Amino acid sequence: MAESVELPSRLAILPFRNKVLLPGAIIRIRCTSPSSVKLVEQELWQREEKGLIGILPVRDAAAAEIKQLGPTVSQGAGTDFLDQSSKVKDGSSDSHKADTKKQNDGVHWHNRGVAARALHLSRGVEKPSGRVTYIVVLEGLCRFSVEELNTRGIYHTARISSLETKTEMEQVEQDPDFILLSRRFKATAMELISVLELKQKTGGRTKLLLDNVPVHKLADIFVASFEISFEEQLSMLDSVDPKVRLSKATELVDRHLQSIRVAEKITQKVEGQLSKSQKEFLLRQQMRAIKEELGDNDDDEDDLAALERKMQSAGMPQSVWKHAHRELRRIKKMQPQQPGYNSSRVYLELLADLPWQKASEEIELDLRAAQKRLDSDHYGLVKVKQRIIEYLAVRKLKPDARGPVLCFVGPPGVGKTSLASSIAAALGRKFVRISLGGVKDEADIRGHRRTYVGSMPGRLIDGLKRVGVCNPVMLLDEVDKTGSDIRGDPASALLEVLDPEQNKTFNDHYLNVPFDLSKVVFVATANRMQPIPPPLLDRMEVIELPGYTPEEKLQIAMRHLIPRVLDQHGLSSEFLQIPEAMVKLVIQRYTREAGVRSLERNLAALARAAAVKVAEQEQVVPLNKGMQKLTTPLLENRLAEGTEVEMEVIPMGVNSQDISSTFRISSPLVVDETMLEKVLGPPRFDGSEAAERVATPGVSVGLVWTAFGGEVQFVEATAMAGKGELHLTGQLGDVIKESAQIALTWVRARATDLRLAAGEGFNLLEGRDVHIHFPAGAVPKDGPSAGVTLVTALVSLFTQKRVRSDTAMTGEMTLRGLVLPVGGVKDKILAAHRYGIKRVILPERNLKDLVEVPSSVLANLEILLAKRVEDVLEHAFDGGCPWRQNSKL
Ligand code: ADP
Repeated sequence: MAESVELPSRLAILPFRNKVLLPGAIIRIRCTSPSSVKLVEQELWQREEKGLIGILPVRDAAAAEIKQLGPTVSQGAGTDFLDQSSKVKDGSSDSHKADTKKQNDGVHWHNRGVAARALHLSRGVEKPSGRVTYIVVLEGLCRFSVEELNTRGIYHTARISSLETKTEMEQVEQDPDFILLSRRFKATAMELISVLELKQKTGGRTKLLLDNVPVHKLADIFVASFEISFEEQLSMLDSVDPKVRLSKATELVDRHLQSIRVAEKITQKVEGQLSKSQKEFLLRQQMRAIKEELGDNDDDEDDLAALERKMQSAGMPQSVWKHAHRELRRIKKMQPQQPGYNSSRVYLELLADLPWQKASEEIELDLRAAQKRLDSDHYGLVKVKQRIIEYLAVRKLKPDARGPVLCFVGPPGVGKTSLASSIAAALGRKFVRISLGGVKDEADIRGHRRTYVGSMPGRLIDGLKRVGVCNPVMLLDEVDKTGSDIRGDPASALLEVLDPEQNKTFNDHYLNVPFDLSKVVFVATANRMQPIPPPLLDRMEVIELPGYTPEEKLQIAMRHLIPRVLDQHGLSSEFLQIPEAMVKLVIQRYTREAGVRSLERNLAALARAAAVKVAEQEQVVPLNKGMQKLTTPLLENRLAEGTEVEMEVIPMGVNSQDISSTFRISSPLVVDETMLEKVLGPPRFDGSEAAERVATPGVSVGLVWTAFGGEVQFVEATAMAGKGELHLTGQLGDVIKESAQIALTWVRARATDLRLAAGEGFNLLEGRDVHIHFPAGAVPKDGPSAGVTLVTALVSLFTQKRVRSDTAMTGEMTLRGLVLPVGGVKDKILAAHRYGIKRVILPERNLKDLVEVPSSVLANLEILLAKRVEDVLEHAFDGGCPWRQNSKL
């Protein structure tokens, strides 16, 4: 470490070419020129006490002159210093005043230098020349100025005077400016150190330096450690005033700090990029190595060859093969990283995966077996099954018959999907379901052209790829839920699919080559017929499944749902029994649906609860295989001591056999009403609802038809003071709003006949408004069949007589009071039956629809036919319509 030293008045001078040794800096040089070797030898090597030498910077006058001078740079390690052979004017006699730069045959000697001490010396002899060289480690100590430059033998000496005296330094250290400057310098230096330490992850040794070394020396030490220009080095050397030195050093340290930061940013960027590609490279190499190790070394070329083989064996038609092969040739010429390579590959993979020829083997269709299968899978549905058998019979006689597509229409959970899968099983074909619910974009069916980013094949082609054969039974689920908008009309694409003339060459936009769909057996499902576009409907044969009666539901539950649910939960009737009476209660109190979905869910909830009970049985004794594993010696010891048996946890999803062989239960769990309430909660529906709701005048019970089958719909009417306006609420469509208007007009027009008004010309709405509401206000409603219900509600309101709570009605009405027939009669009657309604008022012309209603339901209902609105009113009120006798109608 540099400390204050007493300098002699004369020093041997070692010139440094274009380089400055600053105080505090340590440098290692190699002396090879005769003059420097001599200097080191005499001034340092041969002395007992290692002396000081002066380092003086010299500068070339001009580059050209240097050339003339010849190579004067020694091979010093990391430094240049002037060879003594440079032509310095000799002269004790002819000395120079050195306070200005002197020119010596092209060499400028600087007039300030630094005294240096040798920290280490080593001598070497060069072979084969035998030349002696020295390696010297020098430490800069303090500045001096040259008074006079002389030569001693072949090297220079100088008379010098010290520039940094101790007293001067002590004085300046009290200077407030200096204190301020030194603070600034230290802060900058500290910052630099932190950055460097972070970079090099070194400890805080450099920070110690900051605290222990006088700041004016630190300035030199710091600057000496950077690469700065010779000019800057000189100016630092010339900064004899510590304040000037400090501010210069601060500036340089700051500049260095900034440059490190910039460099760091750049490196980070470069490193980021580099490391990403390097990482990829590394991973690829590893992948290759792993594949080699596994023996499946399929790099890209092998990959393409494999793809080609796959394409060859896909059985594509000739024209498709040509197209595919052209594409393959194209990607063979591409680099895998090239844009478009991947999408082409994915495309070719699809072409290779599609079942162009691959088909399930057609089995000889056995109609009896098919009937058996349908019967065993589905209860009831006699007509539907009959129609399916007819369909299969035609296929048997004429396999390529272009019969219409079967379309099952009905509310959810009535077995549409499962019927379609039974057809597939009967035909021995694979089954694939394609959901069309919510499809609004034609591209969903036909695919996107490959020019789109992220393009994909349509759902049909995708389904065929999934199923892997060209002759599956394909279920087009929910065809009524497709809608058309600006993105095209999916229904028209479906038309092409279902048209036997066109589907031989179905063109998916993504595939861009025709695919033959003619071997596919299409079956469609829909909740309602009405939204299906007529051209599409025209291609299909509709088979309606209107929903089940409670009796049918009970049978389905007992025969199909309970065994299946038990099996799914790893149970059997040995563990859980659900008596018929309880299933009836579930149907009555917990479900009110046309299908059996929620019934199945409720049964599953019971099974889950039972499974927990069975699995928790503590008195259960393990019997065989599963538990035998437990009899380890340790356990045997514990058993022998009479301790408890440890239970093994049975993983969920094991089948019932496993459980029954593991657990033996003393008696099966029988579901009773208490368990029903515990598991399913309090009853959700009961028969008294209608009675409660119809308890006040102005409410009537209607029957409507929804996508979920028939429903009971209440209509509420009330009157209040107002201006004779009609208010309607309950998310009503235009048609139903108009029905309300018609009903009100009819009632007003017949007010006198109905004895609602005192006489002719009386305004029923004088000073009052009427408000009609359809509860379940969040559900949109529309349709004309609420006409008679509306009239009944209004008459009840104005007469203040209650409507019979056991009576529900449906029917469109005209302005003149005729009752017109409506649709969905079977569903509506079933809904009324489910609801516990006893009497149903129907338009007379719907009489013919009653044949579809199961007789068990009809037996429980009184069907009342109405031709005119008065008939409806007659049936709807207790004791008939008392006003009728007076009616002129
Ligand atoms: P959908 O397609 O009409 O919505 P699903 O075919 O999915 O209804 O049927 C729902 C569940 O009800 C299925 O588990 C099905 O097996 C069962 N199911 C429906 N109808 C019957 C029936 N008649 N016999 C036996 N199970 C039935």
